[in-house]
Parts: sequence; C-alpha cells; structure tokens
Amino acid sequence: LAEPDLTPLDQAREILRRTFGHADFRGMQADVIAEVLAGRSALAVLPTGGGKSLCYQIPSMIRPGLGLVVSPLIALMTDQVAAMQQSGVAAARLDSNIDPSEKAETWRRIDAGELDLLYLSPEGLMQPWMMDRLARTPLALIAIDEAHCVSQWGHDFRPEYRMLGRLAEIFPDVPRLAVTATADARTRDDIRGELKLTGSREFVASFARPELILSAERKRGAAQKRVVELVTARPNRSGVVYAGSRDGTEKIAEALRAAGVPALAYHAGLERTLRTQRLEEFLEADAAVMVATIAFGMGVDKPDVRFVIHADPPASIEAYWQEIGRAGRDGDPAEGITLYGASDLAWALRRIGERDVDEQVKQVQVRKVRQLYTLLDGTGCRAGAVRRYFGEEGVEACGQCDLCTGAVETTDATEAAQKALSAAHRLAGRFGRGRLVDHLLGKTKDVSAQESSLSTWGIGTEFNATQWRDLTEQLLFEGLLREDPNDGRPLVGLGDAEAVRAVFRGERRVAMRKHPEGPEDSG
Ligand code: ADP
Ligand code: ZN
Repeated sequence: LAEPDLTPLDQAREILRRTFGHADFRGMQADVIAEVLAGRSALAVLPTGGGKSLCYQIPSMIRPGLGLVVSPLIALMTDQVAAMQQSGVAAARLDSNIDPSEKAETWRRIDAGELDLLYLSPEGLMQPWMMDRLARTPLALIAIDEAHCVSQWGHDFRPEYRMLGRLAEIFPDVPRLAVTATADARTRDDIRGELKLTGSREFVASFARPELILSAERKRGAAQKRVVELVTARPNRSGVVYAGSRDGTEKIAEALRAAGVPALAYHAGLERTLRTQRLEEFLEADAAVMVATIAFGMGVDKPDVRFVIHADPPASIEAYWQEIGRAGRDGDPAEGITLYGASDLAWALRRIGERDVDEQVKQVQVRKVRQLYTLLDGTGCRAGAVRRYFGEEGVEACGQCDLCTGAVETTDATEAAQKALSAAHRLAGRFGRGRLVDHLLGKTKDVSAQESSLSTWGIGTEFNATQWRDLTEQLLFEGLLREDPNDGRPLVGLGDAEAVRAVFRGERRVAMRKHPEGPEDSG
C-alpha cells in the first residue's frame, strides 16, 4: 500500500523542521503559508520577530519555480540570503553591488531552475529587461517584504514601492504575499489598494507582549536626572536607554557612570570598531546599560534586557513598539518607560516641517507623532492602545501598565466629548482641528453668520484651548474623530459611527487625564 501523500502543509512542516530546525509553526505562519501554497495572494501583518520570512521562504521552496522577494534594504537582503545559504537553501540576490561573474552564475541557476529564492530591490525588479527575463521564468510567488513602504500612511514610505502595483497585471497567475510588521488599518487598506490585493485574505497576528510592563511620564525638569533615578532603582539589570541625540547619549551615559552604573554610549557618530566593541560588551554583560540613539537596534538580540527607557520619546507608535520590544525577549517581565514633554512634541513637529518631502507625507508624519503623544498622555491601557493601533480586534486591557493599575488620575470628559463631536458633526468636515477648537470656544476669527448661528458655536467655555486640543487629539486617537489629509490641510470629521453614537448615548465614557498643576500650554 502506498503512503498517503503529504499535504503541502505537511511538506512545509517537514522543511521547517529539517532545514530551519524549528519544532512547529508559530502564530499565523501556518495559515499564511497554507494560503500561499494554495496559490492565493495574501497580506500578512506579523510583529517583528514573528517569523515573517519563513512565510515566503518555505512556499518558495515547495512551489515549482523561483520565489521573488522584494526588500527595501540591501543590508537586510544580504543578511537573509547569507542565512538561507547557510541553511542549505538555494537563495541569491541581485543588486547593484553584485559583481558581473556572480550575476551570470545566478542567471545560469535561474535558467536551470536551480534557484528557490531571489532577493531584489523594487527598482531592480521593475526594470524592463528584468521583467522581460522573469516573464520567461516560472515563478513560485512574489513576496513583498516591508509592504508598508508602499503607503504614505505607513511610517516609512518609499515611492519606488508604488511600481509594485503593476505586478498584479504582469504576473496575474503568481501569488503575491505582502508582509509587514507594522500596519495600522489605514496603511493596510492602502497596501491592499496599491498592491491590488483587494480580494485577498488578510492575516493580522497578535501584537501582544504580555511580559512588557509599560509606563510613561511627563518630563519634569531634566530628563537625565530622572533617567539616573529610574536606572539606579533597577540595580544589576541590563537595560537600554534611548536618547534623541548623540550628545544626549554621551551625557546620560556619563551621568549613569557617575552614579555607579556600568553604562555605555552608542551612536552612529562613533568609530565602527568602538561601536562593535561596545555592542559586544553589552551583549556579554550580565548587567549593563546601553545609552543609545536609534542607530542601536537592528538585529540586536539580547534576551535579558529588563528595561527600555526612552529619555526622549520615539518617532511613532511603530517605533515605540519596536524599541520597547527589545526588552523581555526571554519572556520574563520587563519594563518600557517613556519620558515625554510638550517641547519634545514641538521639536518633533518642527523637524517634520523642515524635511524635504511631499506635503502629504509630512501630514502623515505629523499625524503619527500626534497619535504617539496621545498614547503617551492618554488614559486607557497602553498595551491595548498599541494593539488596536496595529489592527487587532477584541483587545483587552493588559492589567499591568501604569494606566491599568491606576497610577494616573482621570476625570470624566464624556460631556465635553459630546460637545466636540457635535461640533465636528455640525462643521461637516469642512475645517481643521484648530478651527474646531475656536468654534467650541466661540472665538473663530472672521466667523460667518452661518457658523455663529450653529448651536455648537461657543458651547465649550468650560475648557481652555489647550484642554480642547488635548481632548480633540484623544478623540482622534480613540477613532471618535478622524482626520482626512485634504492636500496637507487635514480636516476633522466624525470617526467610527457606531462608537460616536455610543458616546452620544452615554454608553461609552471618555476619560481624560487630570493635570494637577493645571494644563500646560504647548502653544
Ligand atoms: P521577522 O522578519 O518577522 O521579524 P524573522 O523571520 O526574522 O522575523 O524570524 C525571527 C526569528 O524567529 C528568527 O530567528 C527565526 O529563525 C525564528 N523563527 C521563525 N519562525 C519560527 C518558528 N516557527 N519557531 C521557532 N522560531 C522561529
Ligand atoms: Zn494596561
């Protein structure tokens, strides 16, 4: 009697064990792989470290033909290809740094059907001659790594990714798999639209990291002093302190050393050998503190990091989760502590304003910064907010962050929220946030007779402008209000209709943080 044939997924599991040495699939890997093996395109959102690469590597090895992997960074490609080759997988890359003889050898292997995986940059792939050659090559799949790069709503927009939309027409029969670690709902919609994945299944893994205990506090005075307090209160543990500037890392490391903490500074301005040396020292130490800019991170995997402290806030919620996520890799409890202030927000906004990018891209970056600060200064579970931001549904409060454990006093602002939502409704999405606040206060300059006759004009005298701004941002973050880009002049309108109705009916309460020392005006 013949053995029953292995299903494609059994085959995938075999490869997982034999070639990659892992006992079983994790999270959504098996679902994503099964979808691609069935020849269907998909979008997969898995957290960093969630094992995205296997989702396209294994199907490329099983399905007949060559698997193409589009990746934005040559450094990432180089690492992945080297790792694949070490595991005995037939993988290669083609980019401008590859010398001609190696290129010729890669093409020989492609033509002979010997290669399973080929890594390319988007612009490398979309060259006409490359398209011509690949049109004559049987393809197993096309994987688009870091797919959020296609979206202006993502945190790392790359215009060259836009070209990848044409793959759908050029290779209609080849399954395409878009993968990313960070995609809020809007970015996901954009990915699906741009990459023509509208009919495809979407897999969103859980972003939960139950071992992480999150907190954030407003800066009071110098951050450096507070960092020293926080670190010395956690003796004999390894940690990372992120600072916004090279100079900042040096100063904080110095202050920590003066307080008896073995601290090292790390940033891109250091000589390469020194950087490597400090990195190794940190990785080997039982307890050391690395004070670093974000130059420190990619590929750093020290399992026993017990805390990550942001002396200056990260750039976005994506960056926050990624940077905090370097703590607790061993699964034991670890802390993520973020210090932030109104001046950090202003600085971040100013920097975006100075960037040499599209106005629309700037607006997205501004929005992401605001969302981050609304999270930092918010009142609801932090871990829950991050996970909802990444598109998870049915998220429950973590029960262990500073907001869940009640370290922050809040006040009920449901009535004020109802006023703001009514005003946004009356203004019918014609105005931006500043105008909404002016409207509530009855301070709109050059107000039209039509606007001043609305029942919501001037109904918000219980709050000052700063409080209304805080609340508006919070409502944006909670999805009760939404902002539409409108060519760089975002307009505020009502968000999720169901949620808005719940607030009007008083079924959903809106809590706002109490500022004991009175609201500070961020201008
Ligand atoms: P991502 O690209 O999602 O950040 P990677 O694909 O680089 O993640 O995988 C992260 C790590 O997890 C790698 O070291 C990989 O070998 C490991 N890994 C992936 N899948 C599994 C699995 N099913 N079981 C155990 N380890 C896995
Ligand atoms: Zn919580």
